[in-house]
Amino acid sequence: MTDVLVVGSANADLVVAAERRPGAGETVLGGDTTVLPGGKGANTAVAAAKLGADVALLGAIGDDAYGRLLTESLHGAGVRTELLRTVDRPTGIAYITVTPDGENSILVSPGANSALEPDALDGAFARVKVVVASMEIPLPTVERAVAAAADAGALVLLNLSPVAELAPRTLAALDVLLVNEHEAAALLGSGVAPGKLLDLGPRSAVVTLGARGALVLTEDGATEIAAPRVEPVDTTGAGDAFTGALAAALATGVTLETAARKAVRVAAISVTRRGAQPSYPSAAELEGR
Ligand code: ATP
Repeated sequence: MTDVLVVGSANADLVVAAERRPGAGETVLGGDTTVLPGGKGANTAVAAAKLGADVALLGAIGDDAYGRLLTESLHGAGVRTELLRTVDRPTGIAYITVTPDGENSILVSPGANSALEPDALDGAFARVKVVVASMEIPLPTVERAVAAAADAGALVLLNLSPVAELAPRTLAALDVLLVNEHEAAALLGSGVAPGKLLDLGPRSAVVTLGARGALVLTEDGATEIAAPRVEPVDTTGAGDAFTGALAAALATGVTLETAARKAVRVAAISVTRRGAQPSYPSAAELEGR
């Protein structure tokens, strides 16, 4: 039995620091490039596997050096890759410029991720406890994954980041809709209480609130979970750390609230260290806190 199957993207993150980002037609010299394994799907899978869950990633990479970097990182964390396809497109790349004000600008070249067609999902959901679908892959693949996972009886989570317009039946098939507060506002309109997310159809929802923690919404009501106070160093991939930890905990059969309490602890540790995947804690580390 697989604890967590993640359907989502894998990207190489090419990060460069610069005094300012170039304007149109301009060339700016920056620092050295750092290449890190990333992509929301791969990050989520690594976060869940580091906590001890049996995790597989269903995604697509290219036959190139960045694809090999991603595979190595996934294997290093214990993520199974038999459903990770190598396709005839370059591995996805996120070009990230970081300026001294701490702002990131990101240009994503989806590459192989755009070649993840719905037929890649056939037969993937048998004997899976929790399926996490994430974006940055074709929308029909996301929608098919949610429907097939629900049909197979798995617990279905969707991290709707970035927000896309989903068919009402997709939203209604979700056990957990996971968004940050900006995404919640984009879905509902600003000023609308996040509790209204359940009116869109999912059985429950979690809204991450950055340094404030997370809000859990179920038919029993709303529970706010405070984040531990930490000195953030790099929040890249905090949402994916949260998603992976939530899925790993749900696979053990705990309630959504208990799983979210664990996820805020995991995500808080991740923001105190650089990078996404390298910043995620192991189960032993989490217990030692
Ligand atoms: P990102 O896009 O950076 O991956 P996100 O926008 O999807 O993140 P956030 O709500 O910013 O999601 O953060 C996800 C979770 O990470 C929060 O719910 C919280 O648990 C944790 N977190 C983020 N920032 C902090 C912080 N400064 N201190 C403690 N925990 C944090």
